[in-house]
Amino acid sequence: MRSHYCGELRASHIGQTVELCGWAHRRRDHGGVIFIDLRDRDGLTQVVIDPDTAETFATAERVRSEFVLRVRGLVRERPAGTVNPNLPTGEIEVLGKELEIINRSETPPFQLDDEHVAEEHRLRYRYIDLRRPEMFARLKLRSEVTRELRRFLDDNGFLDVETPILTRATPEGARDYLVPSRTHPGEFFALPQSPQLFKQLLMVAGIDRYYQIVRCFRDEDLRADRQPEFTQLDIETAFLDEEAIMGLMERMIRQLFSTTLGTELPDPFPRMSWHESMSRFGCDRPDLRIPLELVDVGDVMKSVDFKVFAAPANDPKGRVAALRVPAGGRLSRKEIDDYTAFVAIYGAKGLAYIKVNERAKGRDGLQSPILKFLPDEAVEAILARSGAEDGDLIFFGADRATVVNEALGALRVKLGHDLGLVEAGWRPLWVVDFPMFEWDEKESRWFALHHPFTAPREADVAQLANDPGACLSRAYDLVLNGTEVGGGSIRIHREAVQEQVFRILGIDHDEAVEKFGFLLDALKYGCPPHGGLAFGLDRLVMLMTGAGSIRDVMAFPKTQSASCLLTQAPSPVDDRQLRELNIRLRAQAQS
Ligand code: ASP
Repeated sequence: MRSHYCGELRASHIGQTVELCGWAHRRRDHGGVIFIDLRDRDGLTQVVIDPDTAETFATAERVRSEFVLRVRGLVRERPAGTVNPNLPTGEIEVLGKELEIINRSETPPFQLDDEHVAEEHRLRYRYIDLRRPEMFARLKLRSEVTRELRRFLDDNGFLDVETPILTRATPEGARDYLVPSRTHPGEFFALPQSPQLFKQLLMVAGIDRYYQIVRCFRDEDLRADRQPEFTQLDIETAFLDEEAIMGLMERMIRQLFSTTLGTELPDPFPRMSWHESMSRFGCDRPDLRIPLELVDVGDVMKSVDFKVFAAPANDPKGRVAALRVPAGGRLSRKEIDDYTAFVAIYGAKGLAYIKVNERAKGRDGLQSPILKFLPDEAVEAILARSGAEDGDLIFFGADRATVVNEALGALRVKLGHDLGLVEAGWRPLWVVDFPMFEWDEKESRWFALHHPFTAPREADVAQLANDPGACLSRAYDLVLNGTEVGGGSIRIHREAVQEQVFRILGIDHDEAVEKFGFLLDALKYGCPPHGGLAFGLDRLVMLMTGAGSIRDVMAFPKTQSASCLLTQAPSPVDDRQLRELNIRLRAQAQS
């Protein structure tokens, strides 16, 4: 139906007769001449219809926004003074000879270039929203990303293998989406939170190198970068250790950025232990573009006459840390109050600070409500360790370590953005040496920091039984600019170790057999050492496109309350369907 896309025409096409198809982006009447900006996924071309061609002109007068048109016309140079340097096709226009209205459109619910349309509205009419050039650009990059990833993995001997969607629960730490079985009354499938166990079974099966671009389902409370269904690039390999896996994956990500964005990432990616990351940044996915760090000052606060600091300093689970804010001395009382309110969200009971006006003057050069409580050696240690200079401000966190880490970790990121300190560029980081387990105070039990199939370091296997908290795992996370884009581990490939880890997690033999019997069985039949990881494809593409949310890189995402505004899913189903599935609503069941 067409000879060119709308964004394709340049000065070199002048004199050619072309045929274009697309949507009427805008129509303007200019004293007897009608201009139509014709748009398709590729761009815009200005079409001019003049009254000489009476029939065409009459058709043009009927054109409204988003009508689907076909135009046949002559490419000509734009008259002097009307060249649009902001448009790739801005040097030319098409003098329309024939114009066909292929389809009409009702008045669209919003103008494509209106930046203030509510997201609900965009989601309700997603097919119109996706006509926006930036949305198309994101979907296009996403497609290029998956193509490049597949190319790399194919070149490196990986096999694309599909795994079931109707399956059993996989423990990735979220709630399952359940699907009732019609043929087995009262029983349910779970949608996979990840293909974790299937990919391990593929290694037992000798597939050796597996990948899949796969949908995962987790019914959790949704935040900006969470969706009930999301896509992973899922990978598993046999007979490779963590060094080999991380090396291979780094090459893949570097090649991806190089071919799709023309960006060269560092080689190799830096690495940091989990403990170092928590201690310097308060979190395990630090944004290294922000040049702010936490420093510990607990040791010099143990005997100060200030309980707020002394108590956590003496508590093995406590932490007292300082965060230097360069040139933070200019923060107003009101701004400090706002930051105090911000850290309260993370449970911090306050936000002490010292303003460093003139270091050379000693205590007299400092300004702080807490100064009177701090002896000279504590003050000296704070200044020295934080590296504070004149004009800086130092914030403090003193509480349980988890609270301090969360509060100061989040404050660090907020300050970085508020004060314009975020450096440009890409800062990948492998975080390694994670603890195997995390103690949950509320439930009084151990949780797996990754998942229950992650292997402990060889050296730690012996102390699994008596000191689980001290064991490190063979897990690795890839962090990019403060976002965890991938994570995985070497897996447990020995049945006894797997059973032992289940026991630590409170899963006894019977429950293990009930839930994971098929895995424990497989471990008995020649399971090779294996490991892998999964990348969050949506998050990766979100970062690569600079989008604000993963919803912006999904064609048909769900809302924060896990519904689809376009199709109105989830929706009630009729009684017959429920009966077939042996489901009775409670109201009916009671009656
Ligand atoms: N299954 C893990 C996840 O979804 C990734 C992995 O360990 O490979 O996070």
